[in-house]
Amino acid sequence: MPVVPVRHPRDRGRDWIVLAGDPPSPVDPPASCRFHTHCPLAADVCRERTPTLDTPAEGHAAACHFAPANI
Ligand code: SF4
Repeated sequence: MPVVPVRHPRDRGRDWIVLAGDPPSPVDPPASCRFHTHCPLAADVCRERTPTLDTPAEGHAAACHFAPANI
């Protein structure tokens, strides 16, 4: 279990996930979703198509095939 400083009191007791896989290279980023080598939710579509940047709510933006319609 990694030791991570708590950034904000509201984060105490929160479950953290440790990402597996390789972080994407900023010099040679992977095709399609740039995060698919490191994302626990990656599926075939993530490796085949680049997600578009959507703005489901004012002040929120997400480029993910599985982003909720209303963040
Ligand atoms: S599109 Fe979303 S779910 Fe798929 S790899 Fe990228 S961040 Fe993960």
